[in-house]
Amino acid sequence: MTSEPTRWVYGFGGGVADGDASMKNLLGGKGANLAEMSALGLPVPPGFTITTEACTHYYANGQTYPDALKIQVSEALKKVESETGKAFGDPKNPLLVSVRSGARASMPGMMDTVLNLGLNDQTVEGLANLSGDRRFAFDSYRRFIQMYSNVVLGIEHNVFEEILDEHKDRLDVHVDTGLMAEDWERIVADYKIAVEDALGRPFPQDAELQLWGAVSAVFDSWMNDRAKFYRRMHDIPESWGTAVNIQSMVFGNMGDTSATGVAFTRNPSTGEAALYGEFLINAQGEDVVAGIRTPQALTRAAREAMGERSPSMEEAMPTVFAEFKSVVERLERHYRDMQDIEFTVERGRLYMLQTRNGKRTAKAALKIACQLVGEGLISSDEAVLRVDPASLDQLLHPTIDPSAVRSVIAAGLPASPGAATGKIVFSADEAERLSGLGEAVILVREETSPEDIHGMHAATGVITARGGMTSHAAVVARGMGRPCVSGAGEIQIDESAQCFRARGRIFSAGHIVTIDGGKGEVLDGAVDMVRPELSGDFAELMAWADSHRRLKIRANAETPLDARTAREFGAEGIGLCRTEHMFFDEGRIAAVREMILADDEAGRRRALEKILPFQKDDFVELFQIMAGLPVTIRLLDPPLHEFLPHTEDELRTLAQSNGLDADKLIRRAKELQETNPMLGWRGCRLGVAFPEIYEMQVRAIFEAAIEVSKTAKPPAPEIMHPLVGKREEMKYLKDLTDRVARQVMSERGVEIDYQVGTMIELPRAAICADHLAESAEFFSFGTNDLTQTTFGISRDDSGRFLDYYIAKGIYEKDPFVSLDQEGVGELIKIAVERGRATRPSVKLGICGEHGGDPASIHFCERVGLDYVSCSPYRVPIARLAAAQAALQGS
Ligand code: ADP
Ligand code: MG
Ligand code: MG
Repeated sequence: MTSEPTRWVYGFGGGVADGDASMKNLLGGKGANLAEMSALGLPVPPGFTITTEACTHYYANGQTYPDALKIQVSEALKKVESETGKAFGDPKNPLLVSVRSGARASMPGMMDTVLNLGLNDQTVEGLANLSGDRRFAFDSYRRFIQMYSNVVLGIEHNVFEEILDEHKDRLDVHVDTGLMAEDWERIVADYKIAVEDALGRPFPQDAELQLWGAVSAVFDSWMNDRAKFYRRMHDIPESWGTAVNIQSMVFGNMGDTSATGVAFTRNPSTGEAALYGEFLINAQGEDVVAGIRTPQALTRAAREAMGERSPSMEEAMPTVFAEFKSVVERLERHYRDMQDIEFTVERGRLYMLQTRNGKRTAKAALKIACQLVGEGLISSDEAVLRVDPASLDQLLHPTIDPSAVRSVIAAGLPASPGAATGKIVFSADEAERLSGLGEAVILVREETSPEDIHGMHAATGVITARGGMTSHAAVVARGMGRPCVSGAGEIQIDESAQCFRARGRIFSAGHIVTIDGGKGEVLDGAVDMVRPELSGDFAELMAWADSHRRLKIRANAETPLDARTAREFGAEGIGLCRTEHMFFDEGRIAAVREMILADDEAGRRRALEKILPFQKDDFVELFQIMAGLPVTIRLLDPPLHEFLPHTEDELRTLAQSNGLDADKLIRRAKELQETNPMLGWRGCRLGVAFPEIYEMQVRAIFEAAIEVSKTAKPPAPEIMHPLVGKREEMKYLKDLTDRVARQVMSERGVEIDYQVGTMIELPRAAICADHLAESAEFFSFGTNDLTQTTFGISRDDSGRFLDYYIAKGIYEKDPFVSLDQEGVGELIKIAVERGRATRPSVKLGICGEHGGDPASIHFCERVGLDYVSCSPYRVPIARLAAAQAALQGS
């Protein structure tokens, strides 16, 4: 029996296609959507897609192609030839193609597209004859040589730019459009010499050879550093591979009835429901994105809003524009989402070259989701699923205070909203280096390219001197949520001097600026910022999310400010109030130190007496703010030496200023020193050794709760013991807590509902959860420490070596950022199961850093926790992620 041979190639064009939009995994996003548009009958230049499986095969077989690929490609090419009436490599009537990479998810780190492939010294003459435009033919050829040499042969762009500049100087011409056919011919000749000089062999003339060179380059680019970095940042698996799209060329550079452009069906920055984009007359695709010439607006309204004079597409080419408008509207209805579209007009004829769901800012994502629900295109469930929870971060952070004094250094385009302050740097590497040292930096570039991505990621904001709203900088910054001002033409960068000049002033590296991405302005110095307003679309989407959510969301908060922020963001309680922060406050740290120095229990109790009123006041305020919502209070956790200074000098100074015995203080500090504090005398080990500490804390909690209950809703305290590992330990702590609680309640004659529980931070605690649940009424998974103790890795030291593990693919992600579901997650599952076996009503939550990480929240939903607790600013992210987890689970 023979099985079907594998199909490596899928064709599209002429109103039909072998694939469709559902085949993104096989055809990549670009290929699948070209097929879909083609089958919809839209004007797509015919072509074909080599599958991602061919890429996977290529890497699995020592970078070789599957046997059948060559034949399938040549068959597909024949179809394109008959569709277009041209022939590949034919000197009289040449078919030219573009070679485009295309992974499942759009990846700016991948290979740049090669246009006009198939041109050589013969076919260029054919193209000149056919078009009747020799200038166009040689303009296309020089573009091809430059792109192919750069992308496939690895020759730097500037080699070609220098040659071009020399010719322009010689001819005294300032813009490319000023060069004539014979100028381009001479430039092409010089380009070819430059290639031969660089490579030691001539520029490849054979079309077939060119094609396969480009295909390998696409496959090879899957493993380049840029692509690897991008994949790591976006959690894209290496195993996906990329597809290759080979498509017949259409030409936007055939004179003034030709053009090329990009469009979004709605504004990707604000979400406004209006066609948005840019186009260039007499140009080829990359010109728009590269920011070489300043593009023109698509619609008249947009042109007028920007105060531009050069005509919009609507005005310059009204007939094609009308057709274009109806095509993009159709695409948006078809995909039921905002589309990001590329098109070209060749001598008055419209061609569609790409469509995909457009990247957008969080603000736009919310607005568009709400609009689409309003327009009946999607349901509110879909709207909830469409917004990336992590992206909400952009909205939860400050913007510039409207009443702040603004000293504008330069103006540009509002390419990506939000505000950021930092020191200016002029290279991606420097941005990465300084941010690694904890500095906030603003990356300033002439224009950005995929090589700058790591720097954009490291920076808090980006400024470019050139490029439009759809330039590389703008698109990538929006995707990353980095505020960006693009095309700030007033800025003149001098990279060698590490400075820029603007409005007559010079700004050197390290100077602090603030960028206002919403306005498109660069401001001098650090400017005041304000918290954003969370109403409108945000509130609407959150209400939909809350109606689907099962998990409760709490916040980790100990200060009144954090607690208020948490409530404003919708927290339903406090999941972790760390009491040690309260010990550091001025006014009490002296008493804390006195307690540490005390020789005996009586001495400690005397010192604790002094701390009690402070501690009680802390809880009163917290309980008032939380108005009856549950508040989980963790008793003292850090080792006592953290409350003392470290060096002998500091200890002496402290003793002097507090009238303490210096030698005794130094001796005590030495006694408390530990080899491994993370696993030392900390957590409930303090409470077991010195129960008077925990007794004071429990008393403070109950006195506060009783006081608040007199005038407001009674608080719901949950007293949490840290770092418990054994049944007997838990029982001891539970008894201690109950004893003090009963005592205070009977003293005051008021009953308070409360619970006693533990953090699960040790593997032993997870495994023996059935024992702990005999006394613990709740568990809160402290996944920071649980990750440390499970991996045997100290989080504070992990930075030095984790990167090696991630680079080698041994760890996919930093386990301190996203929960290790396999290991730590397994322990959580065991604890949930065993805890419930003993006490079915045991309340379960998570309070580590992971409580605000969407992937970890999905895990918490799956194992059936009751709540997640995260930092106040992540509460909305957690609300949305929890809703998505519930929707996807059902
Ligand atoms: P990217 O993913 O970087 O946008 P693309 O493959 O989409 O790369 O192409 C880069 C530019 O070249 C785009 O402007 C695109 O519209 C243009 N382009 C690609 N293929 C063709 C073609 N067959 N004819 C004309 N222009 C093309
Ligand atoms: Mg590109
Ligand atoms: Mg594209």
